[in-house]
Amino acid sequence: MQPASAGTESVWLHVSATASVPLICQRCLGKVDLALNIDQDFRFVADEATALAEDDESDEDLLVLSRDFDVLALIEDELLMAMPIVPMHETCESEHAPTSDASAADVLEEKPHPFAALRGLKIRKN
Ligand SMILES: [Zn+2]
Repeated sequence: MQPASAGTESVWLHVSATASVPLICQRCLGKVDLALNIDQDFRFVADEATALAEDDESDEDLLVLSRDFDVLALIEDELLMAMPIVPMHETCESEHAPTSDASAADVLEEKPHPFAALRGLKIRKN
């Protein structure tokens, strides 16, 4: 029990969770273990109508009190929302990394730039 921003006593839930999720780096396509952290407070309200009414004016995260409240589902949802849309290594070390690997850079240098031919087609406007 703690006062809400309105001053009335409310039931709060503090959720803190950590998880390591194996994902595919979207830059080098290697495996990246992403550490997810949740540390969040939720305030319970009596019913769905109260939640809807208060949600707009409240910065707090609201939950509806119920006897069959599924805390594991809440934690799962929060972890999913904490996942980045595009998972990436902070620094790619894979051999497929386009920038950090010398041999990959050599391969790129041997090929002409795909738009190199366009240079000759450049139109001059006066
Ligand atoms: Zn990577």
